[in-house]
Amino acid sequence: MEWMIKKFKLVKSLALFATLALSYVALPADAAPIAQIGIQAPGFYRMRMGKFEITALLDGTHPFPIPAVMVRARPDGTQEPLVQARPGEAEALLAEQHLSMPYEGSINAFLINTGTRLVLIDSGAGALYGACCGKLVENMRASGYQPEQVDDVLLTHLHADHVGGIMTGGKMTFPRATIHVSRKELEYWSNPKNEAVAPSILLPMFKGAQSVLKPYAAAKRIQPFDANCDLLPSITAISTPGHTPGHTSYRIVSDGQTLLVWGDIVHVSPIQFPDPHVTVTYDSDGNAAEAQRKTLFSEAAQSGFWIGAAHLAFPGLGHIGAKDGHFMWIPTSYTTQTFAPK
Ligand SMILES: [Zn+2]
Repeated sequence: MEWMIKKFKLVKSLALFATLALSYVALPADAAPIAQIGIQAPGFYRMRMGKFEITALLDGTHPFPIPAVMVRARPDGTQEPLVQARPGEAEALLAEQHLSMPYEGSINAFLINTGTRLVLIDSGAGALYGACCGKLVENMRASGYQPEQVDDVLLTHLHADHVGGIMTGGKMTFPRATIHVSRKELEYWSNPKNEAVAPSILLPMFKGAQSVLKPYAAAKRIQPFDANCDLLPSITAISTPGHTPGHTSYRIVSDGQTLLVWGDIVHVSPIQFPDPHVTVTYDSDGNAAEAQRKTLFSEAAQSGFWIGAAHLAFPGLGHIGAKDGHFMWIPTSYTTQTFAPK
């Protein structure tokens, strides 16, 4: 018996040696170059929530100018650049997540199929942000939907990276859709008096919003709403002013599950989750924006509802956790197992 085992081991070793020798010989001396593809997968991600199908759509990613735009409130309510208020904090918080500057931010939108209605929340930047972005329609088509099918476009606010996508090449991107926007938001960005006194960083936002909304206004397809209303079946508009005067988040409920598409409550998650005081220069009211952020962090961590976030890394879907007095972003766990109709 012993000799049989020894023989078996010897034969096995010889076979392994032969395999290795053959594989070595089989390697070409000069491998031909393989062209690298260099493009990303289509920017859509799908999940089921209750009876609804949620499709996150990517408009593009772009470098976010942290030193130029991130600020922190002083005790007296005025603001100073984060790099001055807390030198090294941005770099250290990014490094904790193996990131560095320039930090790349996503522009996400969310398409809700309720079964009887196709509702898009935010529309990306369209042509207003340059070549980085404006890819929402391409990604919507890749996801299996066409812009002509969209019934309603809900805007969280009228900054260029949320409203710009409603126009493509001088035409309405969503020819059947009604545009829903907070009355306060619409009035603010349409009023020349506000434009005259606005800081220079916001001036392109006035021009951009006015130009893309014009054809929809002419077609009488803009429907302003007042804060905190049941906008559509299962969709409630919640007033969350601060980033802009009429900034709105949308709560979607199906079968006892809730998704809050919150717009621009957070711009740079590696910094603003550990330090929610940090805000951006183009908040209309930085202190109010900070207060909204803290309130929603706390509510979402306690209630456990889904968040759909415009600028968190695509798909921007996830939950908020709280540990040792700090909040954290918990991105959705990738799945392909959510599509079987219930
Ligand atoms: Zn934004």
